[in-house]
Amino acid sequence: MVEQAADRDLPFRQWPAVLQEMWRSEQAPRRQRELAFINAIALISCLLCLPLDYTIGPQIFEQGLVLRFGLVVPAYCLAIYVALRGEWVFQRWTSILPVVCYAGVAGYIGMHNGALAEGGYVMGAAMIVVLATVIMPLRVASIALMVFLSLAVLWAIWAALPPAAAQEAFGVLAYLSAISLVALAVPFRTETLKDRNFLYAIRGQLASERLLAANEQLRELSHRDDLTGLPNRRYFERIFDTAFHASVINGEDLAVMMIDVDRFKLFNDTHGHTAGDRALKQVAKELEKQFVTSGATVARFGGEEFVAVVEHCTEQEALSLAERARHCVTQRPVALEIGGRVPITVSIGVAMRKKVGPSTDALIDCADEALYAAKTAGRNVVRLADRAGAPGFAG
Ligand code: GH3
Ligand code: MG
Ligand code: MG
Repeated sequence: MVEQAADRDLPFRQWPAVLQEMWRSEQAPRRQRELAFINAIALISCLLCLPLDYTIGPQIFEQGLVLRFGLVVPAYCLAIYVALRGEWVFQRWTSILPVVCYAGVAGYIGMHNGALAEGGYVMGAAMIVVLATVIMPLRVASIALMVFLSLAVLWAIWAALPPAAAQEAFGVLAYLSAISLVALAVPFRTETLKDRNFLYAIRGQLASERLLAANEQLRELSHRDDLTGLPNRRYFERIFDTAFHASVINGEDLAVMMIDVDRFKLFNDTHGHTAGDRALKQVAKELEKQFVTSGATVARFGGEEFVAVVEHCTEQEALSLAERARHCVTQRPVALEIGGRVPITVSIGVAMRKKVGPSTDALIDCADEALYAAKTAGRNVVRLADRAGAPGFAG
């Protein structure tokens, strides 16, 4: 969506609504401050015109006093208040209004008080419109509206002049109107550039977010074993290391289990490697179901061997979990593509940290020896390591 808008250089009104909303919420705080500041400066400049009115004459000063305090000052006060507190829709209108009033008052004072003030005041009115056109942080449509309304008010004032004065004022007013209209090119250009920058910035942001997600995915994949989807050995070692040290610090026991598929070479030789792969996946799934639901971690250690670490558990809990896992694998014979089902079993060696494991390596070795004992005991059984390097019978 954003890419399309950026690539095709879509104008703001054709942006998707969600993008327009993002633009508004991003611009809102800065725009509020800018509008309040610009309106405050304009208010001060309007008040500074009073001494100028005074130097021109008492009649102009009197008119200026009434019109500025009666019209322009309240309009600017409202604009500043709304810029700081109000909604964007109101900010737009309340910021257009004082410019129209300010330019209208300057034009009125100039055109209705004879030649002396006319040129300067009408010029002043045009300057107000041009300045507002260039610096107001509004969208170009609002600025254009502001310019048209200001010019409409100036020309309405002109239309009410007696014919002689109207003829005299026509040239300067027409000239300044043209300048005001030409000045519209500035906000039009800057708006186009700002919109494009906004789209590019969003596009860049999205691209880097996508890159981060892809990296995250890659990292996740690098932790996984391709065939079974279980954590791989390298990742397991990290988890195990952390769990082992946490168990030493907490004083809680921890179990490590080595799980090996029984007579798997024979399975491959009889049913083929592809069926063997499917069998491994099925065993992995079954083990994952049992271990992960018990809060343990199971990983593929390599070949047809798996390893699990169970934290915060007693020997009895570890043995019954191992027994449950072994039993569940047995309960699901592997379905062959050619039809029929082949039973599959695993042998499991269990080692408890407190009993046998002074280090992570020693604990793994003990679980491995317990696994060997399970194999020599006839397979499809669980064995517990009694002490380092000397597994005994349990189950
Ligand atoms: P035991 O009961 O003593 O463990 O006997 P076993 O046949 O399971 O043990 P052995 O170590 O002799 O054979 C393991 C077999 O596992 C050999 C190898 O081809 C197979 N194997 C290892 N990794 C994979 C794999 O990713 N896919 C398949 N299909 N077979 C595998
Ligand atoms: Mg095996
Ligand atoms: Mg093996």
